[in-house]
Amino acid sequence: MENKGNNEIIGEKKKVKKSILKNFYPEYTFEKVEDIPLELLHKEGIKLVLMDMDNTLIDCKGNYSKDLRKWIKNAKAKGIKFYILSNSFSEKTVKRISKELGVQYFYKASKPSRKGFRKVCDNFPEINKCEILMIGDQLFTDIWGGNRFGIRTLLVKRINKKEVIVSKIKRPVERIILNHYYKKEENVEKCKV
Ligand SMILES: [Mg+2]
Repeated sequence: MENKGNNEIIGEKKKVKKSILKNFYPEYTFEKVEDIPLELLHKEGIKLVLMDMDNTLIDCKGNYSKDLRKWIKNAKAKGIKFYILSNSFSEKTVKRISKELGVQYFYKASKPSRKGFRKVCDNFPEINKCEILMIGDQLFTDIWGGNRFGIRTLLVKRINKKEVIVSKIKRPVERIILNHYYKKEENVEKCKV
């Protein structure tokens, strides 16, 4: 009887651990934004895409690829709306990227807080949460924030390894979570990296 009790407790602990990890799991993963097939967004019924900026759209020098610009243009032509949701404190950079890509922005978003997500999504009352996708390169800000807010999430690989110290510290823990994520059979099909 005693053993059975212990096993049950271990089982409970495992369950808790798994459910905690799930908070950080993206629905999809891709190498980069421009690799995401527009057909997939259409198939999933995505109407609004929120995008992280640093290391998702631009590299550490503030540059983005021509392909990304083209991808956004094509998606917009298909009726998909975009918004940059960035934790950046540099309005100058966010403003420039927003202008060049023709996308509105919200900066100092404090992801994973739900506040920034809510502020942006309140501008689109006609769009349901299941029709909104957050794209970002960080599990603890973009993906966790999106999951907490109840929207869809997609992880891309960071553009370059150079990043702020706070992000750097989190990467080894992210790797552990991602290893668990990639091990799950149901995620294999949705992982393109
Ligand atoms: Mg980022």
